[in-house]
Amino acid sequence: MLFSDVAVLFDRIEKKSGRLEMTDILSSLFKRTDHTEIGKLVYIIQGILVPPYEGIDLGMGERFAMQAIASSAGYGFGEVEKNYKKSGDLGDSAETLLTKKKQTALSTTQMSVAYVYDSMIKIAKSSGTGSQDQKIKILTELLNNSSPLEARYIVRFVIGSLRLGVGDPTIIDALSFAASGDKSLREPLERAYNVCADLGFVAGFYDKPDRIAAFEVEPFRPLMPALAERENTPEAIVERLGECDIEMKYDGFRLQCHKSGDKVELYSRKLEKMTHMFPDLVAEIRKLKAETIIFEGEALAYDQKKKRYFSFQQTMHRRRKHDIEEASAELPLKLFVFDVLYLDGKDLTNEKYSKRRVKLEKLFHDDILMPSRSSRVSTSLELEKIFQESIKEGLEGIIAKDLNAPYTAGKRKFAWIKLKKSYGKAVDTVDGIIVGYYLGQGARAQFEFGGVLLAIYNSDSGRLETVAKVASGFSEEEMVELRAALEKIKTKEPPANLDFKIEVDFWVEPKYVVEAAFDEITESPNHTCGMHDGKGYALRFPRISRMREDKGIKEITTTDEVEKIFRMQGHPR
Ligand code: ATP
Repeated sequence: MLFSDVAVLFDRIEKKSGRLEMTDILSSLFKRTDHTEIGKLVYIIQGILVPPYEGIDLGMGERFAMQAIASSAGYGFGEVEKNYKKSGDLGDSAETLLTKKKQTALSTTQMSVAYVYDSMIKIAKSSGTGSQDQKIKILTELLNNSSPLEARYIVRFVIGSLRLGVGDPTIIDALSFAASGDKSLREPLERAYNVCADLGFVAGFYDKPDRIAAFEVEPFRPLMPALAERENTPEAIVERLGECDIEMKYDGFRLQCHKSGDKVELYSRKLEKMTHMFPDLVAEIRKLKAETIIFEGEALAYDQKKKRYFSFQQTMHRRRKHDIEEASAELPLKLFVFDVLYLDGKDLTNEKYSKRRVKLEKLFHDDILMPSRSSRVSTSLELEKIFQESIKEGLEGIIAKDLNAPYTAGKRKFAWIKLKKSYGKAVDTVDGIIVGYYLGQGARAQFEFGGVLLAIYNSDSGRLETVAKVASGFSEEEMVELRAALEKIKTKEPPANLDFKIEVDFWVEPKYVVEAAFDEITESPNHTCGMHDGKGYALRFPRISRMREDKGIKEITTTDEVEKIFRMQGHPR
């Protein structure tokens, strides 16, 4: 597949906002793409080089990309900079400047998708002395062989802002259509993706339904984490689950731990490799009797003497302030293990939770890797009692587990139901992503910051929808910091996958996730979250309660969850 053909289709996708049209364009593209290239193409569409857990980064900032554009287009750096200031999009500038190419154009070689992708990998892998020059050289060569349109997308990809507005659900639909002409393969493809968190890898088998259906969990290929639904009362939980296990909800750092022999890797909730951050836990995991195992737990510091838990934020703060080794000695981490997903060659994700728990309790009984505290209950009174205990101990609530449920990778299901102390009270929270910001007025003008526009994620459509304009909750210091961080990711256009009705002073790349507290969910014509009859859902009296560095765009609150909170406030369906 020629990259020039892909660039033409990207341009068409950019001009269409309808999901059906995008699916159509992509499925015809996939049908024409060779099996050896389809995975690479899917990564490019996702705007990534490899799945996040492989931790390979292009490491190419805007300034280096500008140098490559300058040398390829035959302009000075200053001229590229000037054009970029005017256009606000470096990809557009590359396109314009290459169109006007001053030098007599050398004959260009046609590039395949694989060639472009492999060159990007080379850029990512050049390291050490002279690596920046090497990166610029490879990009310059790519641009020398590019048409202006190809250059637009190559440059946007390299600086991490492809902005096609195509979400994973659309890619999955398009793969299904390419293989079967309809959406019938969507579910198995989605399951395979949830089991290995690598859509490029799954795409390599998209038209082999038997292989897709047989996807299994494997060590060192992290799965998408299972997520919890919420209920407001113990009664509602018991009504739904009947007899169930109630576990403490630890406010720690969720870790997915993989071990095979002596090799151990730890992954965060965003599935980034975190092994280096937890040497103390790695040493303990290595000692486990199991030869190969995947399990999950919450890591948090616990002061044995004072019987006090430290939240994730407090734990990370301590670890950043002190050297990791030093902090480990001073404030030992514990890992409260709450699920086992794979054991000695066997995928356990389809086994009932109660069976997985029995295995878990046999495997973990030490003082550092310990089972999450769990009790079996069958009445709401028993549940309430444990809930109150959790609050007394400074924890944030409980998670109820359905005894018969499999592990629901990547899905928010009633297999786990959380009950937190904030539910049903005047204050609840959502995790939203900042998509734009406002300049200050009055007293705030000196900080030139007047708040942010927050969006949540519609997991059906793969689009972002706005839910609140948030102007409070920041201290002055935080305001200055956040403003500076947002300034660096300003964009001229709104995020390509954002549905919005209100404007901002500046749009930004959707990068920072914040937790916003609010009093209730209301309906508003200004917000697009769960749009129905011309109204969307909006947060009433929203304020930022904290940054959620542990969450990325795929982990934010979804439209379904906001709608659920709205219903829980007593609004009929
Ligand atoms: P919250 O912001 O309420 O923690 P979340 O969006 O981070 O929620 P949810 O899926 O809603 O994540 O809630 C489940 C989270 O609770 C898990 O991601 C996990 O990190 C944490 N957790 C703490 N204790 C447990 C436990 N015993 N079993 C399962 N998850 C637990």
